[in-house]
Amino acid sequence: MAMQYVSTRGHSPARTFSQILLDGLAPDGGLYLPERYPHFEAADLAAMRGMDYRQLAFAVLSRFADDIPAQALRELIDRTYRADAFAYTRAGDDAREITPLHELSPELHLLGLSNGPTLAFKDMAMQLLGNLFEYVLERTGRTLNIVGATSGDTGSAAEYAMRGKRGIRVFMLSPAGKMSRFQRAQMYSLQDGNIFNIAVEGVFDDCQDMVKALSADAGFKQQYHIGAVNSINWGRIAAQVIYYFKAYFSATHDERQQVSFAVPSGNFGNVCAGHIARMMGLPIRRLVVATNENDVLDEFFSTGVYRPRPAAQTRETSSPSMDISKASNFERFAADLLGRDSERLRALWQQIEQGGAADFRSGGVFDRVADYGLVSGSNTHAGRIATIRTTWEKYRIMIDPHTADGLAVGLGYTEPGIPMIVLETAQPAKFDDTLREALGQMPPRPQALEGIEALPQRYATLPADAGQLKNYIQTHVD
Ligand SMILES: *Cc1c(COP(=O)(O)O)cnc(C)c1O
Repeated sequence: MAMQYVSTRGHSPARTFSQILLDGLAPDGGLYLPERYPHFEAADLAAMRGMDYRQLAFAVLSRFADDIPAQALRELIDRTYRADAFAYTRAGDDAREITPLHELSPELHLLGLSNGPTLAFKDMAMQLLGNLFEYVLERTGRTLNIVGATSGDTGSAAEYAMRGKRGIRVFMLSPAGKMSRFQRAQMYSLQDGNIFNIAVEGVFDDCQDMVKALSADAGFKQQYHIGAVNSINWGRIAAQVIYYFKAYFSATHDERQQVSFAVPSGNFGNVCAGHIARMMGLPIRRLVVATNENDVLDEFFSTGVYRPRPAAQTRETSSPSMDISKASNFERFAADLLGRDSERLRALWQQIEQGGAADFRSGGVFDRVADYGLVSGSNTHAGRIATIRTTWEKYRIMIDPHTADGLAVGLGYTEPGIPMIVLETAQPAKFDDTLREALGQMPPRPQALEGIEALPQRYATLPADAGQLKNYIQTHVD
């Protein structure tokens, strides 16, 4: 029988991988998790050590996506994880590794997750999702119109993953004039007929409100097959588990060794995949959750109380992709921490929905966090600048501000004999203002992306009005 996915809140029917692939939230408002995690024994791990990225991807994903025929899954994986699709590697790194591990010192490594088309780690999962979506839609004869709002990374990753895919259109809202010239060029220069960039006369929150208004209209949603690709999608988490395995084998010689990972975190999606890799038997000692000034996660791991803040309290920082007030994927980890007690989770999330906090301290629940290896820390703008500078001075390597948060916090948790692997979640070229502030020079840009600001751009401009968005979608959907 195929693996069953259940909701963290326990009130939705169990379903298979393909059945939940196109979904965000479960009908009861929870997030999907496999009923239980697949497990690799030491002998399995030993057999995986010699595998390349695509083989590892199959070994991991075939356990999760077991209702997709093996041959089809293999083809989707092979089509996704090609060296020429993740080609923007640092000089000296090998693109055939897909996620090359760069040694800074014998016990400090950088895992290159940002060599895909949009120079951020979201490509790692999104590129696979594009191919998976196309496959599932084709088999069921359905179409999908993805509507989203972006202030940068997510929107471009979604567009580069879905461009040219049959049965899929992307309507991506972004605040007019608010993104960097590079980010704008990345998105607006796409000429694919199924990609619709919409510059909204407003700020990011206006874009998000328009998407929410549209999602609230069940009739419209159903009639126009509206979907999303947000960070709570299970397929994205599953795809992110793969590179934890790849990094582990790159950094170790045998399965008795442990490693730690430092993860720049916002919505808790990336580090949640690390937690799942550990639950599957990967010898991970610590998962270091690194935040910026928006420290809702660091607060939880230091106090046992999860206290999401109102969106208006989100601070704008120089690691903008981690500027969140509520970590949507945290609910998945919470479910494991509560021993999958969905009634208790519902009660805690009810507190949150009433504007309160979820307190995990009673019944020894919070004490169990240590068993899962999760620790945390937060960083500031000054800390980022200092870390970018010392990394450059010491290792002649430029890192982006998000990776700097990971490195700065990770350094507080190094232990002798345990490699610390810092996840590089974006390339410095995307954040040249901060790099110039830190180093007095511009980061190099991959040659193929030189001059993209001069390419012709294709986008529509709309006022911040959900009605106009509906009209626009209606006119552009057959
Ligand atoms: C999205 C993003 C993050 C945060 O990842 P989560 O999975 O949301 O925790 C960190 N850094 C960069 C560059 C990102 O784009």
